[in-house]
Amino acid sequence: MHITNLGFPNVYQSLIKVTVEKFWRGEATEADVRKALADVQAYNHAAQEGLDLIPVGEIDLYDRMLATSVRFGIVPARFGTPADAIKSIATYLSIPRGAQDKPSSAQGSGGAKQASPMVKWFNTNYHVVQPEIERDPTWQKDAPLPDLSDPRHILPLIGPWTLLSYSINTTTRSIPELFAILAGEYQKFINTLPEHTTVQLEEPSFLTKGIPQGYEEFLKGIKRQVHLHVYFGAINDFADKLFKFPVAGIGLDFFDGPENLSLLARFPKDKVLIAGIINGRNVWPVSARTEKLLAEVQKAIPDDRLYISPSCSLLHVPLSAKSEKGNFSFAEEKIAELKAIKDGTAKYAPFTHQNTVLPKERFERKRKTFWVSDIAYPTTTIGSFPQTADVRKARSDWRRGMITDADYESYMQKLTKECVERQEKLGLDLLVHGEFERNDMVQYFAENFSGFTVIKAPVQSYGTRHVRPPVITGPVSRPHPFTVKWSTFAQSCVSSSEGGSASGGKKPVKGMLTGPVTIVKWAFPREDMEQEAHFYEVARALAEEVRDLAKAGINHIQIDEPALREALPINPARHSHYLHHAVNAFRLVYSAMPDEVVIHTHMCFSEFNDILGAIKEMGADVLLIEDSKAKGKVAASIRDSGFPASIGLGVYDVHSPRLPTVEEMLVIPRSLDMDPHKVWINPDCGLKTRGDEAWAQLELMMEAVKILRKGVAEKK
Ligand code: GLN
Ligand code: ZN
Repeated sequence: MHITNLGFPNVYQSLIKVTVEKFWRGEATEADVRKALADVQAYNHAAQEGLDLIPVGEIDLYDRMLATSVRFGIVPARFGTPADAIKSIATYLSIPRGAQDKPSSAQGSGGAKQASPMVKWFNTNYHVVQPEIERDPTWQKDAPLPDLSDPRHILPLIGPWTLLSYSINTTTRSIPELFAILAGEYQKFINTLPEHTTVQLEEPSFLTKGIPQGYEEFLKGIKRQVHLHVYFGAINDFADKLFKFPVAGIGLDFFDGPENLSLLARFPKDKVLIAGIINGRNVWPVSARTEKLLAEVQKAIPDDRLYISPSCSLLHVPLSAKSEKGNFSFAEEKIAELKAIKDGTAKYAPFTHQNTVLPKERFERKRKTFWVSDIAYPTTTIGSFPQTADVRKARSDWRRGMITDADYESYMQKLTKECVERQEKLGLDLLVHGEFERNDMVQYFAENFSGFTVIKAPVQSYGTRHVRPPVITGPVSRPHPFTVKWSTFAQSCVSSSEGGSASGGKKPVKGMLTGPVTIVKWAFPREDMEQEAHFYEVARALAEEVRDLAKAGINHIQIDEPALREALPINPARHSHYLHHAVNAFRLVYSAMPDEVVIHTHMCFSEFNDILGAIKEMGADVLLIEDSKAKGKVAASIRDSGFPASIGLGVYDVHSPRLPTVEEMLVIPRSLDMDPHKVWINPDCGLKTRGDEAWAQLELMMEAVKILRKGVAEKK
């Protein structure tokens, strides 16, 4: 048996993150950035020494998709030429970040270099920059290449079909035409690599989009060894086709695609199998389950044709579990496990599957109508406000015991108070406390619930953003209320009275919670229990928090579910089970609420089409979405599906520091033919990753709202 790996994290010492962010602030040079990447590559290589095949060149400064796009000349012209993007780090890194054409003016009229959109990588919490194909792709000979002089070095590449299925095509060519061109460029590139090179070609899009015409011809034109990988699911539908392809090896995922096991009897005798028998997306050490799986694989495939590996790239787990409290297996530990399995020295932990019963009843609230604002185009934000360096420093000082609980608390209160006052000054209608006390929307809940173990090591979420997914290690419960004091404190800071109503009450502050599906999806769940059972456990804990918020007079409560779409299983046969329980768990969180409590939810993704029914079923009064990049299409399709409640439009992209123009923010609300009292105007996500420019962006948003309201007044 041989051992290999599909890819490694790029987070060593956060070197890349820190250097790129410094570069953006003008505090590091291009040479510094290149060195950071080289240092992490060197570290990763050493960490994977001992594998029979070692992936090289797969990590990037930002993300793999961006690097692959640039290699094939896919660079939106607004940023420069492909050659520019290869030569200049500034150009390269402006693609995901956006840039102003001219220095920004107070009106935000500077420039339209909008960042390329970012999309989720299959059903993971990793995101890639969407390739924008504006002209025929061409392989760029100057794109950087790793050292391939050692035949053990394998070159991982996102395959042409997967790249294409993630792209936005603005050319006049059809997808089959583009595929033929792109595949030709891949061939040219691959055929110039040293002859002994093995290429790890990754095509998970076979699972979602099938295998395109001409794929076999593409492979035939490649004169190097290819290991073709399909991870994140089972290849049931196209196994025979895949097995006949002219490649040296095929990589399969036995975690997200357990059905792959039953296909091995037909596995071709002329190929090697790269068997993903270690879960590349979770942190549990190898167990009796792994041992059993391996035995089954070995029954079908002789050792000389067998590589064992993680089920997907290890970029989805943290780097090293050395300084963690629990007995976890992160990337480095998984490499050690592979070696131990090969040596026969692996220690397999015991494994018992827990039988859990999912609720049969549907959770309902008494009120059957939806709450509607009496303000036209009501305004709000998604929750968080900029987490500046000062905020993060205060938190880390507090964690290290360098400032007292009381000092930390009063600093957080000061920030919250300022934030509320600034929102009032802007004239926002529904206020938030700003989430300064939260490091992360999932980690914060994990720290306050029991049943979670938080980790220190980061995982890349996108570009330079890291998250620390907590591990669900036991039954989940909520020992004490924890968000209530922040929401009530913020409410006590409000001085302005409610705009549209005659009530004379103070403007409301929204309570802010992370939903059950998102908490589970952005944590590492237990492997011995069904995912859906986790949803209900977390939902019960959240329901207690909601009850206490309402008791404390917080009548608007937002329950964020940004991961609901992402967690949709890739296999369509599993959709209805997942959606039913995801929605029902969400409903459980608020179903006991009295009628006056208004439920908001936020989801930041733009692929609603598969889940329109479920969105309606969630039963929230206000749904805040991300629509700036899809330019209103999402809201329109939600409205057209018969969505009965209010929609918040997400009129500008918070992932970019760029100032949106007033005109562009008017496009979406104007294009949407809906009652203005049911159309909220808001940023497309939380503002925590922004700096001070967040306030300027909001000011422009409020300008746009003034114009919209004037339009409403004139109509009357
Ligand atoms: N309330 C969270 C925030 O504003 C929501 C973040 C998210 O959707 N990812 O940060
Ligand atoms: Zn969001």
